[in-house]
Amino acid sequence: MTTVAVLGTGIMGAPIARHLATGGFDVRVWNRTIEKAQPLADDGATVCDSPAQALQGADFLLTVLADADAVEESVTRDDALVKAATSSNLVWVQSSTVGIGGTARLMQLAAEAGVRYIDAPVLGTKQPAEAGQLTVLASGADELRETCRPLFDTYSAKTVWVGDGDRASRLKLVMNSWVIALVTATGEAMALADGLGLDPKRFLDTIEGGPLDVGYAHVKGAMMIKREFPPSFPVWGAAKDAGLIAEAAGVAGVRTPVAAGAREAMQRALELGHGDEDLAAVWYALSGG
Ligand code: NAP
Repeated sequence: MTTVAVLGTGIMGAPIARHLATGGFDVRVWNRTIEKAQPLADDGATVCDSPAQALQGADFLLTVLADADAVEESVTRDDALVKAATSSNLVWVQSSTVGIGGTARLMQLAAEAGVRYIDAPVLGTKQPAEAGQLTVLASGADELRETCRPLFDTYSAKTVWVGDGDRASRLKLVMNSWVIALVTATGEAMALADGLGLDPKRFLDTIEGGPLDVGYAHVKGAMMIKREFPPSFPVWGAAKDAGLIAEAAGVAGVRTPVAAGAREAMQRALELGHGDEDLAAVWYALSGG
């Protein structure tokens, strides 16, 4: 049986690990806060005390952690990655959103350890992850496509291969620049409506079914109307990704005033104490109430 070490069992990592464990893989999970990993034992996963224990003899390493620092700290703890590389033909599937600089750093770690690396960020949030309907954006060596296919097929609706190196992470930043701008623009239009004495729902009703419509505005707009923000894609993640988008814009030499405004709004929502709520809570940074 193919063994997968999953590091990180948060909003995204837990359902991915669950699909793998119930989908015919031998899954070993590790999470910094072990209580979040323990329920996965009911799905047949082995809950480990350390990254090194999870990685021992693994065929795949799948990282779904907050950021590049969290990934680096976890895979280097007790030399877990280097030790695993000496005992198996490990493939590292890196699915945390870590941006261009973060991916370069992690690819370097993999190269130093002699581990094959696939850059594989995911599109989709909590609900698609739970439904096994994520989109995997993947880049890396062509010969690893077939090796990774059974793994990706277990928790995703499709895999988009975008070439070699860090191209998947680059595409992920492009996609998240759209998502974060869209949610911020939805909040801004609704806050403007509210401030002008209009029911914010009027904005959603008016775009509905026309060329200006987009499904995400209704999903996130409904949260703003209810002032209920159960996290699918939390504010802290959107603020982190907005920083990675700014870094990418610098690499690209592109001016991104919309992304800069959205980043400022996400930072403000974070400072107002909404970090663990869904990014639709950017509403508080825009409306003042
Ligand atoms: P989450 O539920 O907050 O999970 C974050 C994970 O990172 C947890 O396992 C957390 O451990 C761990 N972590 C944080 N700091 C750490 C550290 N210093 N050392 C070790 N572990 C650390 O967030 P998530 O939404 O699953 O996000 C995971 C990754 O997926 C992120 O890179 C995110 O950008 C990306 N992503 C998220 C979405 C989404 O919509 N949510 C979509 C696509 C991609 P604890 O449990 O101990 O805190």
